Amino acid sequence: MNILITGGAGFIGSHLAELHLNNGDSVFAVDDLSTGRRSNIEELLDSGDFRFEAADLLDWDGLEEAVAEADRIYHLAAVVGMFRVLDEPVEVMRVNVGGTEVLLEEVVRSGDTPEILIASSSSVYGKTHGVVLDEEVELVFTPEAGGLTTYALSKLANELQAIAYHREHGLGISIARLFNTVGPRQAGTYGYVLPRFVSQAVKGEPLTVFGDGTQTRSFCDVRDTAKALELLAGNGNAIGKPINVGNTREIPIIDLARLVIERSGSSSDIEFIPYGEAYGESFRTIGQRRPVITRLVEATGFQPKWSLEQTIDDLLERQSAGVSSKGEWV
Ligand code: UDP
Repeated sequence: MNILITGGAGFIGSHLAELHLNNGDSVFAVDDLSTGRRSNIEELLDSGDFRFEAADLLDWDGLEEAVAEADRIYHLAAVVGMFRVLDEPVEVMRVNVGGTEVLLEEVVRSGDTPEILIASSSSVYGKTHGVVLDEEVELVFTPEAGGLTTYALSKLANELQAIAYHREHGLGISIARLFNTVGPRQAGTYGYVLPRFVSQAVKGEPLTVFGDGTQTRSFCDVRDTAKALELLAGNGNAIGKPINVGNTREIPIIDLARLVIERSGSSSDIEFIPYGEAYGESFRTIGQRRPVITRLVEATGFQPKWSLEQTIDDLLERQSAGVSSKGEWV
């Protein structure tokens, strides 16, 4: 099968590329390398079945050919990462909404019907927390300057674009609402918590817990996430509706910090940093994020294989094996 991955040099995209190469497929990755990195795909470049092009989807002269060749498209290209998303709201809209339109329009123009998966985000749940996050829950947003709403609505727009192109043009599009994803190749540069904690623990620096650490998240290993995305793409039970993708185990961030210190045997302390200092004064925290994955399990039979402890141990092992020299960490 010919696979096209937008955002293919990114954290999740590169794992998906690897998964498909292992399946014997051909993979074409496109990435503007804004947060994606060549080092993520360095080893894949040796494979004769892997091609990479550095390009902005909105201005890519190879798009027509790439779409024409593709049997399946994973659309992951987006402005992501908390620090970046808060700093660049115009780019968030241009790339996330504009890029998706350009891609889907090209698919329609081609007259082909590739399987398509579009990455959405748990941020579409907005301020909804303290309740079970299943796909039917009502969404609540407060427009705010300098906040997360721009990103959340760009991802909700992606879902609506997918549904619209499915209804009007019959495209077979699956929509994955991705919850927190962790694992090798994730960089802490743009704020992601686990690579930051691992790096801080290994260096013996204080682990920077934002707020009081009572906020919870549910972390899914990227190798489980990649498998779930593979199972969703082209799956007749998963077309035209959002599906949560994640791990249901929930952990307060303070406990995540303690767990990383414990697994690494580090002598690091924990330092509490007010949200305003971390993200700017207008930031409003998200207190809880835990997915219900009934829809995912019913559609695909997915079960995560990696425990959080295994992921942390794997990250610590890679760090001590010197993977850090490739710039994988903060
Ligand atoms: N976080 C933290 N220290 C850090 C980076 C992040 O305490 O150095 C917190 C962050 O405020 C959030 C959680 O960890 O509550 C997860 O952050 P991440 O950016 O990884 O994901 P998201 O906020 O998008 O869920």
